[in-house]
Amino acid sequence: MKCNNEIKGDEKVLVQMRYPKRKGFTEVKAYLNLEGKFICEKCSTKINI
Ligand SMILES: [Zn+2]
Repeated sequence: MKCNNEIKGDEKVLVQMRYPKRKGFTEVKAYLNLEGKFICEKCSTKINI
């Protein structure tokens, strides 16, 4: 996790990830669990994704 803040429930988050070459929603979901980085809304305004 890139964000230092603890993300609470119901908070808006952004996921930073590279989209896999092979498309398919199931694959993307699996990929997200492995590679996805969750960033809270505050941090997302600081970082340019
Ligand atoms: Zn944050």
